[in-house]
Amino acid sequence: MGKFDPYEIDLRGMNADTCDYAFLLDHQFFAEIDGPEVRKGKVQVELNVRKTSHAFELNFLLDGVVWVPCDRCLDDVELPLSSTDKLTVKLGSDYAEEGDNLIVIPEEEGVINVAWYMYEFIALTIPMKHVHAPGECNEEMSSKLNKYLRMTPEEDQETGEGEDKEDSEEGADKAIDPRWSELRKILDNN
Ligand SMILES: [Zn+2]
Repeated sequence: MGKFDPYEIDLRGMNADTCDYAFLLDHQFFAEIDGPEVRKGKVQVELNVRKTSHAFELNFLLDGVVWVPCDRCLDDVELPLSSTDKLTVKLGSDYAEEGDNLIVIPEEEGVINVAWYMYEFIALTIPMKHVHAPGECNEEMSSKLNKYLRMTPEEDQETGEGEDKEDSEEGADKAIDPRWSELRKILDNN
């Protein structure tokens, strides 16, 4: 049995007009799905599948928390989430995503695996910027990180005069900088 088999929904074999599923997406789920945005979480999902005359409507109700690294100090920040999402699935000849959450799956298979879709719904709820509430950061780590970022070559050019301005906002924007992920690797190995 594959890791994600429990998330397979047999649409073609559906006998009733409507069917309910429940999933608990835990740390193991996030570790196995191996997505970039979320590595830890505990999310309850209720899925209702409804068969209409020409398609299947999958309504997801997600509720729980995820933990993502703080942009400022890299410690985990807890983010509550609650969201409703919908997929419409049609049977056709080949697999296709047709935008606006409309998916075509091959009729001879008649099955859709919703694991990655649920992961994406969760990832979409994560704000671009995620930091601890004021005063709750790991101060030791965030000052180390600020120092590191200030020592990088581009930063050096700016710090001729008037240096030492504390700017944690700037630090947060560096989260997407490739140097940042290198640094994260170094820190993780300690
Ligand atoms: Zn923090």
